[in-house]
Amino acid sequence: MDLVNSMAFVEDDGQVTLVDAGTRRAPKRLLAGLTHIGVTPTDVTRIIATHAHPDHVGGLAAMRGRTGATVAAHERDAAYVREGKGPVLDRSTLGGRLMRRNRGSTPTPVEEELVDGQLLDVAGGLRVLHTPGHSPGHVSLLHEPTRILVTGDSIWNVRARMTWSIPAFCTDATMAKKTAHVLGDLDYDMAAFTHGPEIRQGAREAIRGFLRRRTVGQVPSR
Ligand SMILES: [Zn+2]
Repeated sequence: MDLVNSMAFVEDDGQVTLVDAGTRRAPKRLLAGLTHIGVTPTDVTRIIATHAHPDHVGGLAAMRGRTGATVAAHERDAAYVREGKGPVLDRSTLGGRLMRRNRGSTPTPVEEELVDGQLLDVAGGLRVLHTPGHSPGHVSLLHEPTRILVTGDSIWNVRARMTWSIPAFCTDATMAKKTAHVLGDLDYDMAAFTHGPEIRQGAREAIRGFLRRRTVGQVPSR
């Protein structure tokens, strides 16, 4: 399922860290997917939310309930997850002016607040990269041992073409484009997108190419 993706990191001892919990309706499919790779719900000990949008944390409360996992989110999105509120939307867009906030989700406790640059003890080391704009506390993640980048919604890969996320869904669409450039400076081979299929080889060059073609300077800020 490539429309909205979650990812699982499995430790040698069988503990699992899940990245994102999909929409409100996702848990059934997520649990089936975990079963498929031999993971039982209680193996999941931590769920990292890349950001507090309903297609990423809509299923979080249910997944937390089923697994007993602790929840981690960046310190600037943690309150949204706890209160079940959607982050404010970019008022330079018509959609943002009309809707004002992204849709909320079921309030869910957050046990762990993440900060930029933090190295999480996940499968040998998962680096937290604060890439705000899509939401204030949006994060991308770099699994250093396997050289896999999890872009989050900084860059989408819908229909296997890289694109920016929809500006009206962002808190600050211009900032989202600027902070995505962090991803061009890192070292990795594979990229896993929260929206769209992964790139298995040469992901860094592909993402750098996208960033070069879509430089911030060419994007009108209003
Ligand atoms: Zn999303």
